[in-house]
Amino acid sequence: MDPDRKARAEVNKFMRGLIRRNPGEKEFHQAVLEVTETLMPFILDHPSYRQAQILERMTEPDRIVIFRVTWEDDNGEIRANRAWRVQFNNSIGPYKGGMRFHPDVTLSVLKFLGFEQVFKNSLTGLPMGGAKGGSNFNPKGKSDREVMRFCHSLMIELHRHIGEDTDVPAGDIGVGPREISYMFGQYKRMENRWAGILTGKGLNYGGSLVRTEATGYGTVYFMQNMLETRGDGIAGKVCSVSGSGNVALYAIEKLIELGAKVVTASDSGGFIHDPDGIDADKLAWLKELKEVRRGRIHEYAEHFPHATFYPGERPWKVKVDLAFPCATQNEIHVEDAETLVENGLIAIAEGANMPSDLAAVHTFLAHGVLFGPAKAANAGGVAVSGLEQTQNAQRITWTREEVDERLRRIMSDIHRKCVEYGADNGYVNYVRGANIAGFIKVADAMLAYGVV
Ligand code: NDP
Repeated sequence: MDPDRKARAEVNKFMRGLIRRNPGEKEFHQAVLEVTETLMPFILDHPSYRQAQILERMTEPDRIVIFRVTWEDDNGEIRANRAWRVQFNNSIGPYKGGMRFHPDVTLSVLKFLGFEQVFKNSLTGLPMGGAKGGSNFNPKGKSDREVMRFCHSLMIELHRHIGEDTDVPAGDIGVGPREISYMFGQYKRMENRWAGILTGKGLNYGGSLVRTEATGYGTVYFMQNMLETRGDGIAGKVCSVSGSGNVALYAIEKLIELGAKVVTASDSGGFIHDPDGIDADKLAWLKELKEVRRGRIHEYAEHFPHATFYPGERPWKVKVDLAFPCATQNEIHVEDAETLVENGLIAIAEGANMPSDLAAVHTFLAHGVLFGPAKAANAGGVAVSGLEQTQNAQRITWTREEVDERLRRIMSDIHRKCVEYGADNGYVNYVRGANIAGFIKVADAMLAYGVV
């Protein structure tokens, strides 16, 4: 059998087993298929991974903790939510990965995120295993006190499962500085000790400079690295960004600083198109809207009359050179990818996790678009979380310049690894490069440990 057909047959067989073992978990199936498609030929060429069943073991989390979080709302009503921590793989370091609070959170979503995190953390070169957690709690519309009571209650259970050498959670969708502070304060009270058991902390109690900006900045640095392979750069490029949360806002900030013109932003209500570009003053207004007032993106178009709000839509129909999906999973479907390509898209860097579905990824690759997959392009956030852990452990604080310089170095290192394993006839398949480079380090550690 020719090698391509053999690899395809092996992928199909492997996926049938995975789907049987994990019924109904469609996001998890999607994430595993994306990795397996590109990894299988490599594994078939390296029989030791096959004999040790490394792929089977890497797709089975080490453990999953599921628990109830009971709390009282402002009206005195009792509420109950479900929370999870998926500790996926700690072969190369303590578990590390964010907590997501969103009504759409399911075990499938957290397993896809935890699985991706294993590869991403490996790519950073730092000693971090992969995990993810969260709850179906919806912070939107809740008062600060309600969010506090929920976070405190969640930590009463979570504290048993985390620790600076065990598992170090961080933020993600719906979990920002406010939620991290409430969780950290409760842990400290329960354990009667100060330890860096969460990252994304406030600057006056152990947080790192540049952590807030790191995912967005890192995504733009990765884009810079990709464009440089074609002798190109960011200055003068027209860009679309989706989302208006942590990742999106700081991707926009860095793009403006590097001379690009960002023409879109979004939230779950729709997107705004500002043909004049979001400049530094407009971004300051947008940050205040989103980070302080917790407002909605349609207010941007009411405040800046040249902008238009498109309710219920995503920004991919707007003609741009570069795209930065920074909201959520599966926000770019194949039709969106085709529209972007027809409109002359040069490159895309994923700030969000798995924002492009598999058919969209195939479309970008087939058309030679530079495609920076999430596990490489958005690894800057967890990388600076790793640097926060180092600073906490050493009881020191690095300057903004020092952290930013380390972030840049880590992103270009990740880029180099992707090129090493993904370059093919003058085109870099970053999906393959990231999957293989991320896999090798974890797989080799697992081989070394024997049958565990
Ligand atoms: P935030 O909660 O700060 O922002 C999320 C943004 O995405 C908001 O604008 C939100 O709009 C929008 N959004 C969320 N869900 C949907 C949806 N179903 N449809 C449309 N828009 C949606 O989260 P982050 O910025 O931290 O995270 C964004 C993405 O980046 C996620 O995929 C996350 O996993 C990934 N990521 C984050 C990292 C970090 O350091 N924070 C690190 C690496 C990856 P609305 O307010 O209306 O819900």
